[in-house]
Amino acid sequence: MSEQFDVIVIGAGPAGYPAAIRAAQNKLSVACIDGWKNHDGSYAFGGTCLNAGCIPSKALLESSELYHRAQHEFATHGIKVGEVKFDVAMMQARKNKIVKASTQGITGLFKSAGVTALVGTGKLLKSNAGMHQVEFTDKDGKQQILSARHVVLASGSVPTELKTLSFDGKDIVDSWGALEFDAVPKRLGVIGAGVIGLELGSVWKRLGAEVTVLEALDSFLPMTDQAVAAEAFKQFKKQGLDIKLGAKVSSASKGKTDVTLKYTDATGEQSIVVDKVVVAIGRRPNTHNLLAEGTGVDIDERGFVKVDAECRTAVTNVWAIGDVVRGPMLAHKGKEEGIVVADLIAGKHAEVNYKVIPSVIYTAPEIAWVGQTEQQVKASGRAYKIGTFPFMASGRARAMEAGTGFCKMISATNDDEILGVHIIGPMAGELIAEAVLAMEYSASTEDLQRTIHAHPTLSEALHEAALAADKIAIDFPNK
Ligand code: FAD
Ligand code: AMP
Repeated sequence: MSEQFDVIVIGAGPAGYPAAIRAAQNKLSVACIDGWKNHDGSYAFGGTCLNAGCIPSKALLESSELYHRAQHEFATHGIKVGEVKFDVAMMQARKNKIVKASTQGITGLFKSAGVTALVGTGKLLKSNAGMHQVEFTDKDGKQQILSARHVVLASGSVPTELKTLSFDGKDIVDSWGALEFDAVPKRLGVIGAGVIGLELGSVWKRLGAEVTVLEALDSFLPMTDQAVAAEAFKQFKKQGLDIKLGAKVSSASKGKTDVTLKYTDATGEQSIVVDKVVVAIGRRPNTHNLLAEGTGVDIDERGFVKVDAECRTAVTNVWAIGDVVRGPMLAHKGKEEGIVVADLIAGKHAEVNYKVIPSVIYTAPEIAWVGQTEQQVKASGRAYKIGTFPFMASGRARAMEAGTGFCKMISATNDDEILGVHIIGPMAGELIAEAVLAMEYSASTEDLQRTIHAHPTLSEALHEAALAADKIAIDFPNK
């Protein structure tokens, strides 16, 4: 193996692997190092997202949603299926197969792009004679010094632990552990009503667990548009998720077969007894063993690698991308940073448009948004108009038994700029792509109004919301 590369990428998650592939597409010699180890001891590329995050969670959300619909919705369609049963082991096996296909896919992509894939850990050393040095330790512990003109740090993030509540891998688990339960817990405590807590709570609730979600904040989903958050709260409660706001968990004590969680709320100290606990209180940047002494790469007070708007660290030609740097911890944000950095290294023009990054919560109904919330627009002082279209007025949504939720567009009054789009409803995560494209290309609200949307499709909701912003909606009375 060559010991010198144009680019070494440390981390092969959704930030690192696209950086490596794009750098290779740019005719640079590239190595990508990753030491991800699965619970069964196998190594895999793809990072948190493919192994323990986006993909396995969506696989289980899909299975549990189908079970739920078979139980509660099929009869409405006149479909009689008798008793509906599920098999957790089969669900998990399906999920594992999907994960494996995805992670093995990365190995294949590296091969066809000409990226040297290295299994093990990488540590940035002090640079030497203008070249950056990376200490590579393979999975058998053998070390080698590699050098490169550019190094891209893409080491991702790890789950945050509550100081008073250590993960034990069995009863008190992180999100990865909650994706690997081999049986449905009777009572599940979820700490944190963020995206991950809600998605995992939904999976196990649909499969029959009694789920209590404890959230320290008094507000629900504070980062989303509050009209969407209110609708989501209503729907999740209706589904039986017991979400307690203003409930700050302080400690846990393990019994023989259960866990007692202590929390404080407005009325004082409370406790609940559950069988399993998922701690989903957020993630922190992972810089463990990544940097040797004196590299010059700065870390901020929250542990993120400090970078500028183009993902440059304090050291020339050392870059950092994805969850290990500021910004939303999202796979597609990391991917875009990776592609942009690889293009910048090759001397091309590229930039990340941080204003137009979509967010999706894959619950039922799904939630998706891009741009500013109404609270943010209001705080900015800009005059705005709002168009809202409920899915119950969409023929396609009704045909799908999916008339819950709405699509809301916020636009500037003066120049018709689309400032934010917020969707709660069927396929929101897919529908938001149109709004992202519109905002990326500075389409106005009128541009969307004049764009033909196929009928009957869910996408008509976005069209109608754009019309509603000027009180010219067709399929719903204008207010
Ligand atoms: P990671 O995916 O964490 O990858 C970093 C990689 O670097 C790892 O493989 C690690 O082994 C490796 N590494 C670290 N240090 C070293 C080193 N020194 N040497 C070698 N290798 C190293 N995001 C979405 O956009 N959509 C979703 O639906 C979504 N769902 C999620 C569900 C769950 C349950 C979780 C936990 C997360 C989810 N996320 C989702 C977030 C998403 O997984 C992360 O934003 C994304 O994985 C970040 O990508 P990354 O490449 O920066 O880091
Ligand atoms: P996110 O960062 O989106 O994954 O969400 C994590 C959520 O966990 C946030 O809404 C936090 O307010 C919440 N949280 C953090 N610490 C605690 C705690 N001790 N008890 C309950 N909720 C918490």
